Amino acid sequence: MDNNETAKKKVVHFIRQIINKDIAENKKNSQVITRFPPEPNGYLHIGHAKSICLNFGLAEEYNGRCHLRFDDTNPIKEEQEYIDAIIEDVRWLGFDWGEHLYFASDYFEQMYAWAVQLIRAGKAYVDGLTTEQIREYRGTLTEPGVNSPYRNRSIEENLDLFERMRKGDYKDGEMVLRARIDMGHPNMNMRDPVMYRILHAKHPRTGDKWCIYPMYDWAHGLEDSIEGITHSICTLEFEDHRPLYDWFLDQLGIYHPQQIEFARLNLTFTIMSKRYLLKLVKEGIVSGWDDPRMPTISGLRRRGYTPAALRDFSERVGVAKRDSIVDSQLLEHCLREDLNRHAPRVMGVLNPLKVVITNYPEGKVEEFEAINNPEDEAAGVRKVPFSREIYIEREDFMLNPPKKFFRLAPGREVRLRYAYYITCTDVLQDEKTGDILELHCTYDPESRGGYTPDGRKVRSTIHWVSLEHAIDAEVRQYDYLLTVPDPSAETAKKEFMDYINPNSLTVLHHCKVEPSLVRQKVGFKCQFERKGYFMIDPDSKIPEGTLVFNQTVSLRDTWAKIAQAESGKH
Ligand code: ATP
Ligand code: MG
Repeated sequence: MDNNETAKKKVVHFIRQIINKDIAENKKNSQVITRFPPEPNGYLHIGHAKSICLNFGLAEEYNGRCHLRFDDTNPIKEEQEYIDAIIEDVRWLGFDWGEHLYFASDYFEQMYAWAVQLIRAGKAYVDGLTTEQIREYRGTLTEPGVNSPYRNRSIEENLDLFERMRKGDYKDGEMVLRARIDMGHPNMNMRDPVMYRILHAKHPRTGDKWCIYPMYDWAHGLEDSIEGITHSICTLEFEDHRPLYDWFLDQLGIYHPQQIEFARLNLTFTIMSKRYLLKLVKEGIVSGWDDPRMPTISGLRRRGYTPAALRDFSERVGVAKRDSIVDSQLLEHCLREDLNRHAPRVMGVLNPLKVVITNYPEGKVEEFEAINNPEDEAAGVRKVPFSREIYIEREDFMLNPPKKFFRLAPGREVRLRYAYYITCTDVLQDEKTGDILELHCTYDPESRGGYTPDGRKVRSTIHWVSLEHAIDAEVRQYDYLLTVPDPSAETAKKEFMDYINPNSLTVLHHCKVEPSLVRQKVGFKCQFERKGYFMIDPDSKIPEGTLVFNQTVSLRDTWAKIAQAESGKH
């Protein structure tokens, strides 16, 4: 694909440096085995896309492999629907895990055995304190914690209680298994963290087999170890958990992967936490997880994003050790670059205004040749029909144009893209409201194809669609879901629901598009000339009814302008 271009942009970020060093020192047999470990408790978002591109990308780059592993350790929030959606999304991004699809739940028996091993070694105990008490006993950042009264139970008693926990002798929350480390440890995560809790819940894969479930910190390193992961890449909030990750593996004496943390992706005007995204879905603020306004991979796909654009974006934002927030304009810029190269151009009128060309013969139809993509010669040409009545964009006409308006106005001549020069001769208005109903124009037969023999100049070229050939379309235009650039900073003060943009969706019901589009299917992406990029939505009634388009992104590229200005400075 665009391998060359991507290769050019690759930066040797700190994770590549670590891997290069490991390979040079022949650590882990110079292998690179990574994993992407989603919890199936929601749909994947653009932040996950970054993690996917990083993990699968590194594996590809170093001829290693990347596992897709579901971290399905909390049955209360997890569902098969999410598992299916995650698989679809990772595939769509263009990555392949081969036979390496794994589920943490497949390791429950092994994890249990290892927990028993820790109990036998005096490194874990069953605690009967309540969740609340455990929190109180934990101490604070400045004060050490207090030992649980159950901390010194005998090994035999612990083994017996743990077995009974598994058998279901206790209710949710009645008992937990904890690691026996140090209640005075300066790192709070090391103060006897909980390894297992009781949850009498049906698991999507193991059903009622288990009623104790491992906690993330206990489970994750074991999963990595079982799969022989070499570089376990996760986000920065796990940095303080690394000593615990290491402690468990060291105590068990099993294969020890290396945990490496990087800063999570944040985007302006975007919220990513699954908890919030779920709320938007549940409260009907959006139409579903794949609403084109959602930052989910399925939402971006429905909006018209391409895998190439998301992969390019992931590479460009890079990998850092410090949290920051990326401008959404960069994401849109990556998309425009890809669509500009690959999306065919068509003509579509979003707010139609009828034009009658009074000196054009009634019943006559001509076909003009139109270029499909000036960026791609191989895309070829198509025929666009022209007739006496056409639609133009309402905003391309003004009754009393200001100085810098060069498009159509009374007495003014413009070029119709690929067709003829027309001059506005009459304006039909509603008597009461003054609304413009229709224009009458004349055309110059000598200007066929958009050229004039006398070299006469017109200031502007506008797009159009033949009235009798036009296809009805609905166009959905989108704005950011949130009104503030840095929602995480704001949510510290207020509910994020207070920052929902009430105007994030605009639906245009009476759009008219050129007839060549009737051949296209759901998912087809194109540029409406002068208007932006659009994709045919699954809501379309094909082939008999209305086409529904999502506006993917406008043509105006703020990011490119910023980048240009920046480079001009140097
Ligand atoms: P969220 O907090 O958004 O709900 P999560 O971290 O709980 O997401 P997981 O399913 O546990 O979601 O994440 C799977 C992987 O994706 C993890 O390795 C996690 O570090 C990574 N990840 C999640 N969010 C981001 C992000 N914004 N940027 C980069 N990586 C992310
Ligand atoms: Mg998580």
